[in-house]
Amino acid sequence: MQVVLQAPLTGWALPLSEVPDPVFSQGLAGPGYAIDPTVSVLKSPCAGEVVQLHRCLHALTVRRSDGLEVLMHVGIDTVKLNGQGFTPRVKVGDSVEAGAPLLEFDSDLIATRCRSLITVVVIPENPAVTSVAAGEGKVVQGSDWLKVELKQGETAAAQAEGPEKSGRWLELPNPTGMHARPAAQLLTMVKELPGNVWLEKRGGRASARSLVGILGLGLGPKDEVRLTHTSLSDQQLKRLEEAILSGLGDDLSAAPPPAPAAPVQPAAPTVEGQLLGVVASRGLGIGVVYLWKRATFQLPDKSEGATRERERFEGALTQAAGQISDLERKAPPAERAIFAAHAEILQDPELLEATRTAIAAEQPAARAWHAAYEKQAEVLAALPNPLLAARANDLRDVGERVLACLLGEASAQRVFPENSIVVCRDLNPSETVQLDRQRVRGLCLSQGGPTSHVAILARSLGIPSLCAVGPACLDLKEGAQVILDAENGVLHCQPGSAELESARRRLEELTQQQQAERAQAHQEARTGDGTHVEVAVNIGNGDDLRQGLEQGAEGVGLFRTEFYFHGLDQEPGPEQQTQFYGELAQQLGAQKRLVARLLDVGGDKPLPYVPMAHEENPFLGLRGIRLYKSRPDLFRRQIEALFKTSEQCRLAVMVPMISTLAEWRAIRAEMEQQLQGRKVELGVMIEVPSAALLADQLAPEVDFFSIGTNDLTQYTLAIDRAHPELAGQVDALHPSILRLIHGVGEAARKHGKWVGVCGGAAQDLEAVPLLLGMNIRELSVSPPAVPSVKAEVRRWTVADCEKLVGEALALAEAEAVRKLVRERRK
Ligand code: PEP
Ligand code: MG
Repeated sequence: MQVVLQAPLTGWALPLSEVPDPVFSQGLAGPGYAIDPTVSVLKSPCAGEVVQLHRCLHALTVRRSDGLEVLMHVGIDTVKLNGQGFTPRVKVGDSVEAGAPLLEFDSDLIATRCRSLITVVVIPENPAVTSVAAGEGKVVQGSDWLKVELKQGETAAAQAEGPEKSGRWLELPNPTGMHARPAAQLLTMVKELPGNVWLEKRGGRASARSLVGILGLGLGPKDEVRLTHTSLSDQQLKRLEEAILSGLGDDLSAAPPPAPAAPVQPAAPTVEGQLLGVVASRGLGIGVVYLWKRATFQLPDKSEGATRERERFEGALTQAAGQISDLERKAPPAERAIFAAHAEILQDPELLEATRTAIAAEQPAARAWHAAYEKQAEVLAALPNPLLAARANDLRDVGERVLACLLGEASAQRVFPENSIVVCRDLNPSETVQLDRQRVRGLCLSQGGPTSHVAILARSLGIPSLCAVGPACLDLKEGAQVILDAENGVLHCQPGSAELESARRRLEELTQQQQAERAQAHQEARTGDGTHVEVAVNIGNGDDLRQGLEQGAEGVGLFRTEFYFHGLDQEPGPEQQTQFYGELAQQLGAQKRLVARLLDVGGDKPLPYVPMAHEENPFLGLRGIRLYKSRPDLFRRQIEALFKTSEQCRLAVMVPMISTLAEWRAIRAEMEQQLQGRKVELGVMIEVPSAALLADQLAPEVDFFSIGTNDLTQYTLAIDRAHPELAGQVDALHPSILRLIHGVGEAARKHGKWVGVCGGAAQDLEAVPLLLGMNIRELSVSPPAVPSVKAEVRRWTVADCEKLVGEALALAEAEAVRKLVRERRK
């Protein structure tokens, strides 16, 4: 007997073996076909009843009246969108005709955020089905597509759940046991299979659909496990067993990694009571440890009714899932797996069931959820395997995220104790700007690098900060007294009274020095031999500009326009942009220069509304001006709005990430077309080594250069600017980078163009004399650094700086360069 199904989508048909997901390509979800769609409405392949709609809305099942079920799964990895981009046209229980719309989806969103748009149409495990074949032709549309052959005389009704059956005992080959990654892989495979599946160890078992449950078994290397199930076919069981034996994606040749508590130290070995880090923002902080993760929540006592609480809970889950998928997208590739595991935790059936049961028993959602995840976290934390025990932190991370969504922003607002030293793994820019400047005396990051954007923000907030301190700092006790020495890169964890006394004296000295520098901050910075060096400010918004001007900045040397775009849900319209830029220009005044940088998105600053395909190396991908080719409209609108401010200030526009002359010529032509006689300086950021090496070719065609030492350092030394373990080596005073800067300075001199530095080196006091000796006449720094950089300029003569450069260029190590500068400093 044959049943013929319609194609639910128009598009290119392909066999399941070509689907980029082993669950489908290996037939684990059942036989079927796939379609790469050219439309965005999924239609019913037959008349029947909707019997399943996934909570993330990306998959649903229709059952015909004869019992044959058809499962449709839109896109690959779309579960992580958690419903975003999907609009169901039906609900479970609805009767539908063949061709009726079932689900609309946002193809652009799926194409940019997920692995593929390929949609799978399968017949879930059904013993009556003997074969499934697609109709002729590659492009499918509507009727008569999938031919399902049924055994003569058999009904197509899916087999009911059977009795429990067990597979064979298997020895776990994973060097670190069943940790989050293999557990998540098993879960992904099981998710598409029918019935119950448990992972069993001798003396316990857990649902193989629950990440927390699997991890809670505490399975170490060589432990024995088996699968027990109610509905798997022999073939499905065999595939799962083979996957377990092959390590579920783990590298089986790898030696077990060290326990996570092993500190990553960037520089010298640890001294008792001290942790070493890399200076991200200079200064000294004395205070008490505030562990960022431990947000305090007021859990409500009374339920507002099971229905209301249940709705709240589901809403919070959706919101948290959206945040996690955002974080996953922005995370460096190596960290994406963490957020993928977080997304799995959010869907964990045991956690969800425990919470929903408690809500039904009249508990408020927040209390029910808190109890559910804390109980599981305690189980994990007590496991002897430190890698598994550390997963308790992930569970609590996710738990608190959902709580914050449940309780709303206000109750999740952090209250920092007086004199906090904030300790955390890393912060995203929006978290960094939440730091309360009145109460926070320092920031200590276990990860990150000194040129990461968190470090840049910390500098602009004037908060002394260390990064790359290693995970040991996360074990510090909440409230413990510490000294964060962001002059020497040390966190003193158990300071004695003598040490505290000396730190207080040093802090007092620093405060006095800052006051003295501030008293002179509004005067020009001239070297001892009379050369004027413009000290400007780096800004992202009007607040930074206000602060910069208060600190004596003579102009804006870098306006990171993407920070403005980042604060918005969609691209600001031309009028909105014109108004924003105009307000800044007015605030600055007609006599001062505003160097605005064209959008620099990509790298670690993706923009949600400028979708980009996933890139393995986003810093080496479509970043900065490289986007101009595919999105000229975006830049055109920005240029137009920026140019309108040319009447209100001395406008200069510079272009990020230029790496070839052709790129510059293309964008310059675009700008010149819009100039229409206006006076605007047009310049190139030198932040890619190829541009630095070609500076003499670029110089005749630009009005100025501005050197972005953060990226120039990252690209020259081939070290990710936020890499925690290599952060100690990310040093712009490395002689290789000095040679590049020297070349740029000379090219500018030869062609009579001015050259500035807007990267972190401009406010590194040991770098300042070297930059002055290489023809740099503008230094653009974060607002709090303006007075000290001006003071540093006054300490040197250009003649001495040039001599210093001559010596530094002959050295081989950054540390040797720093030593030389310290020796020569008066
Ligand atoms: C730089 O790379 O030095 C720079 C100033 O740009 P950003 O830090 O914003 O990448
Ligand atoms: Mg840069």
